[in-house]
This record gives sequence, structure tokens and C-alpha cells, in this order.
Amino acid sequence: MAIYDPSKRPTDAYDTHTHLNEDEFMEDVPAYWARAREYRIMEMNVVGYNHLGNARAIEMAHELEGIHAIVGFQPEDAKEFNDAELAILKDQTNDDKVVGLGEMGLDYYWDENPTPEVQKAVFGAQLDLAREKNLPVTVHSRDAFDDVYSMLQEHHVEEFGGVMHSFSGGPEEVKRFVDLGMYIGFSGMVTFKKSDDIKAALKAVPLDRILVETDAPFLAPTPMRGKMNEPMFTHFTLENMAEQLDMTYNELADITTQNAHRLWLER
Ligand SMILES: [Zn+2]
Repeated sequence: MAIYDPSKRPTDAYDTHTHLNEDEFMEDVPAYWARAREYRIMEMNVVGYNHLGNARAIEMAHELEGIHAIVGFQPEDAKEFNDAELAILKDQTNDDKVVGLGEMGLDYYWDENPTPEVQKAVFGAQLDLAREKNLPVTVHSRDAFDDVYSMLQEHHVEEFGGVMHSFSGGPEEVKRFVDLGMYIGFSGMVTFKKSDDIKAALKAVPLDRILVETDAPFLAPTPMRGKMNEPMFTHFTLENMAEQLDMTYNELADITTQNAHRLWLER
């Protein structure tokens, strides 16, 4: 198992989806940020999911170099969304540290989640805002690829772009979403032994659409599986992905960082 030696000063990498705004990290955010930078994870998107998570993401982006904020309402929190929250989101998009909207989407896995109708209404309102503001979307899809696909298509995602984050589909889903103009974000799941479909998906993504993420504190990659995930672990996922793609760490770090810059920062 190759573990990246930070003293080799690898190419800078970008954790495109992390939740340093979760309670697990709140007591020591600067320490987790500094550990990531030791491993040359120089940029990260701190992704919001509800009112509090969004506010924290923006605050961190103003305090720490290399942090960008993404704000939105995840399916799980769709019940909290209303016109007042939409107005707040709209206002937050004027902040220069806010680079995109999300996470948003559909999640039919958890029975306790709001109904599909509620989830779709909240997802749709955020897609409309993304189109209006020309901001890329960070999309969460669990057991809902067909409905997510239809909604992205109906809301003209090809005009503003986005990422299918923590991708859990196979090569066929890759083709559909790439054809819609989406990027594909890979989390620690792509390193797991039994993720054959996701590994096949990785090989099917055009190189200019691949992104890497931790989704910390969830889904820690091999060899940290089962532990609490953190942005520093991006290097494990990148190393594993590079091996699967028969590339070097530095090549893939460079490609994924350039892709992230194109999607979120150079617009
Ligand atoms: Zn997430």
C-alpha cells in the first residue's frame, strides 16, 4: 500500500466536498485545515446542507485560506426550506467566497427523509436559483438517479454545470450525466474492495470531468475505512484512484485540481 509521503511535496490537491462545518470538526477546524495543507491539500469546498451548515461554511471560507463555500439544502433537511430560506440563500450567493450551490438533490434511501414530492420541490427551487445566478450545483443522489437526471435535464443544468458528488453509479450513469455536462466526484467509496461498479465508473469518466472529494466526516477511504474521515485523507483516495487509472499521484492531483478550478473558480 503506497502511502503518500508529504516530504515529496506532491502537486497541490483540492478536496471538492468536505463538511468541516459538521459538529465533529467544530472545536478544531484550523487544526484539520492545517493537517490537510501538510499533505498539500491546499483547497477545499466546505459544503453546507442547512441553515446552520451554510452559515458555518461561509464563516470558515472567510477565515481560512483556500476554503470555498457551497450553500444549499440537502434532501434530509428539505423540510426546513421555505421562501425565507430561499431569500437567505440568494443573498449568500453574493458573497465572494460562495462558489456554488448545494448540496441538493434526492435521497430515497432513508425512510425518515421528506417525501419525494417535498424533496423535488426543494431541489427544483435551488436549480432555478443556480440557473439565475449561473452557479454550479453539487448534487447528492441516493437510490434516485432517474429522477435526478430528469430534474437536471428539465432545469437546463448544461447552462450552469455541476458535480454528481460521492458518485455511486456505474459506467452507464457516468455516460448519462457527463452528456448533461456534469462532472463526477469520487469519494472514499471508490477505494473500497467491493465497489466494482464505482471502480468501473472511474475508468469511464473523461479525464477533464474527474473530481476527488472526502465527504468528511463520512466515508473514510482505505486504509482509514471506519475511522472519522477528514480532508487530509484526500491523498489516500487520490493515490488509490491514480493506481486504478495507471497514472501517478501528481498527474491525477494536477488534473483534478484543474477540473475543480474550471468548475468553481474560473467562471
Ligand atoms: Zn456531503
